[in-house]
Amino acid sequence: MSGRPERLWPLFAEIQSLDGIGPKTAQALAQTGIEAIRDLLFTLPYSGIDRRPRDTIRGADLPATLTVPVVVGQHRPPRKRGGAYRIEVDDAAMRFQIVYFHARPEYLMRLLPPGSRRLVSGRVELFDNVPQMTHPDHVLDSADAGSMPEFEPVYPLTAGVTQKIMTKAVAHALAKAPDLAEWIDPALVAKEGWPGWRDALSAAHAPDHTGNLAPTDVNRARLAYDELLAHQLTLALARRARRTRPGKITQGDGRLRTIVRGALEFSPTGAQLRALDEITADMACPERMNRLLQGDVGSGKTLVALLALLNAVEAGGQGVMMAPTEILARQHYDGLAPMAQTAGVALELLTGRDKGAERVRKLAALTAGEIDILVGTHAVFQDDVVFADLRLAIVDEQHRFGVRQRMELGRKGEGADVLVMTATPIPRSLALAQYGDMDVSVLDEKPPGRQPVQTALISEERMTEVVDHLRRAILEGRQAYWVCPLVEESETSDLAAAEARYAHLRAALGEDAVGLVHGQMPPADKDAAMARFNAGKTALLVATTVIEVGVNVPNASIMVIERAEAFGLAQLHQLRGRVGRGTAASTCVLLYRPPLGEAGMRRLTTLRETEDGFRIAEVDLEMRGAGDVIGVAQSGVPRFRIADLERQAGLMATAQSDARRLLEFDPELKTERGRAARTLLWLMRQDEAIRLISVG
Ligand code: ADP
Ligand code: MG
Repeated sequence: MSGRPERLWPLFAEIQSLDGIGPKTAQALAQTGIEAIRDLLFTLPYSGIDRRPRDTIRGADLPATLTVPVVVGQHRPPRKRGGAYRIEVDDAAMRFQIVYFHARPEYLMRLLPPGSRRLVSGRVELFDNVPQMTHPDHVLDSADAGSMPEFEPVYPLTAGVTQKIMTKAVAHALAKAPDLAEWIDPALVAKEGWPGWRDALSAAHAPDHTGNLAPTDVNRARLAYDELLAHQLTLALARRARRTRPGKITQGDGRLRTIVRGALEFSPTGAQLRALDEITADMACPERMNRLLQGDVGSGKTLVALLALLNAVEAGGQGVMMAPTEILARQHYDGLAPMAQTAGVALELLTGRDKGAERVRKLAALTAGEIDILVGTHAVFQDDVVFADLRLAIVDEQHRFGVRQRMELGRKGEGADVLVMTATPIPRSLALAQYGDMDVSVLDEKPPGRQPVQTALISEERMTEVVDHLRRAILEGRQAYWVCPLVEESETSDLAAAEARYAHLRAALGEDAVGLVHGQMPPADKDAAMARFNAGKTALLVATTVIEVGVNVPNASIMVIERAEAFGLAQLHQLRGRVGRGTAASTCVLLYRPPLGEAGMRRLTTLRETEDGFRIAEVDLEMRGAGDVIGVAQSGVPRFRIADLERQAGLMATAQSDARRLLEFDPELKTERGRAARTLLWLMRQDEAIRLISVG
């Protein structure tokens, strides 16, 4: 691996090598992720203080931070130890006081000698109707007055680091920033009017006015673009690395798919057919497919998955489908089993529960090619699971899976095509950040005949009415879920709450009518509870959020979510998606504990107003910010220091196409611009990308 370019060395020096940064400050900065000089440079001011001098503080709207020339008057030391040291000053129109606590009088005499002229700047407040400036930020004599910027940047701070230290450190750091060759497409630079990297950086640290702090400022936009481009280059490199490894050509003859489609009671939606066309086209190509199938809850991803798997089987190969939980794996298995039987396809289930001889038998059958389609949990990707001829790997509901894990999965089946299915609609900017290395199919059409889910917000003070309503519904033969709250971090208290609610509802609705399922139940009990509900033997299923993703019981038409205000928007949307799957009209009751806070109110009313997963996702992004929405830690999406995914979605899209184009044109990053792009990857600490270039 070639090393980090020499020009960047100064930027990767420890922060402590800067003048004025001692070990204590360095340690404090490290707490906020600032370790190298580059980290400091990419920490931009978030606000600024107007330090333009005025003649007098008279007429200012107090309290305010003001800058004013004064003539220093009398010093009035405190009468008691620890009291206020007051210095009277006159500006052009009035007298006020500068106040210090715990300052040495000799120092103050030197700083503000009586009779001298000074430019002072600081926060002025009224105390007993007398304006005073306590501990001015700046006291300058006339000779130095020019050294104060008219608009002073304000940096995010951490304990032990002051604005003064930050400002000085940044100035020293900027002096070390080298000129770097341009890595952005020159046409884009020209179109946007972006300055070069170093100029943009200097300017971003020296804002003139508030407008310079906005993401739309040219300097900031350019620096944000650098971050996004580096990320998209990494994804594009990963994509290329996968595509250049040979895949298999999988082209079924359609015989199994015809049988299955003939046996369906419905015809696929246009969106399902489009997605299938995209998938089968990818599978027929020698490159490996790496595709995301995005579809809101209930959009019918399972059918698309099944038909894609059958394509693999028709071509003489195998397919695997992985679900995140036991319940879902089993449900997929149960759902696919009749279809598989109709088509004469060997389907098997493998989960962590398979042990001993049973597991050995399944693995042997898999290796011998006697199993066509394997469904399971993470267990299907263990080292000793060996396929005879794996063609297609499908990962369901893996929105919790990140770029890195997908890369691992790709390594599993030699040349197998990969399809990731997610039921979490995500705004375009986030999709690009998280799945920019993939191609995307969207199921943007729901199967016909769905009735909208009526959503109601009801205070838990009216719980008795809700239970009465449930009783009547159950008598009519309807089924319902009751989701118990996430009380605290601890799972045991969740469980206690669920069990208490279970006991309460059994007492109210009859012992036989109510079932319980939660994450800590023995797996066999969980299955049994789900099976009873599925078969309609229990009418009400009390559950913790284990039912959140994918569970499909079409007859269930009521969803009660207790303490709904404690759940996130995406989760509520997923939970509600469990109903409205059949033809009966469905209801979702969001039980909340009053008083409802502002954020809780916004979430619940959003949910009441729309069932559109993409709309809900946009609100979620707006309310929580990108980092929280994708769960940065595991997603492989870096925490951008400058780029703002909510407000710079357009830049992300541009970065993706720019990165892909650059690699098409210069796959080895060897041209002048390619080499500059390598520097960018080093600068942005894109280690994964650098590894990919050096192996490629
Ligand atoms: P999801 O995208 O949430 O995984 P599913 O695949 O579980 O959705 O499908 C939800 C329900 O819709 C299932 O009961 C399925 O049988 C049904 N379904 C799927 N496709 C269609 C269609 N084209 N027409 C009618 N119903 C469909
Ligand atoms: Mg599903």
